[in-house]
Amino acid sequence: MRAKIVAGNWKMNKNRDETEQLLTELSAKLPDTDAEVIVAPTFVNLDAAKSALESSTIGVSAQNMHFADSGAYTGEISADMLLNMGIDTVILGHSERRAYFDETDELLAKKVNTAVDKHMKVIFCFGEELEERKSGNHFSVVETQLKNGLFHLDGQAWKHIVLAYEPVWAIGTGETASPEQAQEMHAFIRKTIAEAYSSSVADNVAILYGGSVKPDNASDIFSKPDVDGGLIGGASLKADDFVAIIKAI
Ligand code: PEP
Repeated sequence: MRAKIVAGNWKMNKNRDETEQLLTELSAKLPDTDAEVIVAPTFVNLDAAKSALESSTIGVSAQNMHFADSGAYTGEISADMLLNMGIDTVILGHSERRAYFDETDELLAKKVNTAVDKHMKVIFCFGEELEERKSGNHFSVVETQLKNGLFHLDGQAWKHIVLAYEPVWAIGTGETASPEQAQEMHAFIRKTIAEAYSSSVADNVAILYGGSVKPDNASDIFSKPDVDGGLIGGASLKADDFVAIIKAI
């Protein structure tokens, strides 16, 4: 059975004190759940997050990393640095990284390779823009992102991959894909993986939905058979909202 996951992407929010406060509150309110719960604070607060969650089941993820092990890459963070801090999960390919930091599929494929080589868990994000959906190209855009970013991996490597389908038009906009739109795309993604690999690879990969998931729409989205959880932005910054979303799964 594939994993159920609720992950919170905090983006560039919360200083150290706020990180500790939110995690203390979240740990206290965390419901009993079979789902894996993950938070992704900013780099400088990963250590504080690990300490605050020492006796909690909540996992900690980075929001990005460089593909190289070390070297002259000012301002960057390597997989080895994350692993040395006990962080073995990383979000790659978030649409904000693609849009504001010019991260291409080719660059992401290199980052994925590094993470997989080091046995990290990758939460790989992708999704179409509004114009691409309006023009009916959303399936081919998503297929291309998957092929370019991930399809060079062998089937074994997929145990390190979690997918996060995040239509760009739904991220931080308050506009969410309908449960039917999410299910339609998730089923397409699973079929595409089954064709490229096998039904066993496709059936075992968790596919999260991301894009304005809130306490009031989470249950409907998570009720769809190919939606295995969510990558949550804004609503993960408030303990009560994030907890309500975890309860919805
Ligand atoms: C995200 O940034 O991955 C995201 C889904 O954000 P939001 O939930 O705020 O739309």
